[in-house]
Amino acid sequence: MKRRDFLKGASAGSLLAGTAIAGSPAVRAETKIKWKMVTTWPKNFPGLGTGANNLAKLITEMSGGRLSVRVYGAKELVPAFGVFDAVSRGTAQMGHGAAYYWKGKIEAAQFFSAVPFGLTANEMNGWLYHGGGMELWEQMYAGFNLVPAAAGNTGVQMGGWFNKEIKSLADLKGLKMRIPGLGGEVLKRAGGTPVNLPGGELYTSLQSGAIDATEWVGPYNDLAFGLYKVAKYYYYPGWHEPGTTLEAIINKKAFDGLPKDLQAIVRNACSVVNQDMLAEYTARNNAALHDLVTTHKVQLRAFPDDVLQKLRTLSDEVVGELAKKDKSAQQVFDSFRKFRDQVRAWHDISELAFLKARG
Ligand code: CA
Repeated sequence: MKRRDFLKGASAGSLLAGTAIAGSPAVRAETKIKWKMVTTWPKNFPGLGTGANNLAKLITEMSGGRLSVRVYGAKELVPAFGVFDAVSRGTAQMGHGAAYYWKGKIEAAQFFSAVPFGLTANEMNGWLYHGGGMELWEQMYAGFNLVPAAAGNTGVQMGGWFNKEIKSLADLKGLKMRIPGLGGEVLKRAGGTPVNLPGGELYTSLQSGAIDATEWVGPYNDLAFGLYKVAKYYYYPGWHEPGTTLEAIINKKAFDGLPKDLQAIVRNACSVVNQDMLAEYTARNNAALHDLVTTHKVQLRAFPDDVLQKLRTLSDEVVGELAKKDKSAQQVFDSFRKFRDQVRAWHDISELAFLKARG
């Protein structure tokens, strides 16, 4: 009896002591951290913007408010394409966007968002998390005082919106199209003029004729922007973006200054959002495609096989040349290509064979 009473007393005592420590004003003041997250998306934009919101909410909730994150849409704090610099210099502690937007700073960053005829969402995650990709990405961004994380994926995108039919590669000549990253380089080689514009400017640019065509994401997001009102044909597949990874970037100094448990929360919240966004796109693209075709009478078109074949040849050239730019690009390309070759052999007899069998 006496021993039990003693133990009871001891545990109540430690509980009290624990409460006192965690509740002391000094400790609370020290552990409340507030971060800003700047994004390349219009605030609350379905899928992309709401994914960034989810990421902030998860970090805030999982940390019990010890680390709270406030989200800023494009232009609220910095312009869409100012996100990388803002987080790098610490104006904001976090950012959400896509790595191919930073090709002007680090060309090989494009491998970590989308490569034409490259990896699907599932394959990207395999490469990043278990195929050496993440380590290479971290190495590349460390020089900019940034920690990268995969934080969303759109799945296979659509080929884009056009006001004329694409029947041969010649139809791409002279075409001014919004298409970022390596896909844009491929279009240039096919005789087109690629431009990179933030999502929020696509509708008016297409409407005013500043651009002739645009790609954005897929049915769910393209419907939200109303692109069907300013273009007649909707082409598939998104050869240039087979499974685009969205990124979270974290100011390295801010990240290194966090206690280990908060670092784990930030990393794991990114992983959750990475997976959840893909699930959301998979679910919502179906409904949106139906809406576009039945309600808005959008003309769906497939790129002809020979056009895709030529685009693939041009893509191989563009990606191969990028790899030769510097040592780090070559290293990333080697890792990416090795993974792609191996996963293709496996997916030929798994995903592809199954999808064909299902019909
Ligand atoms: Ca896109």
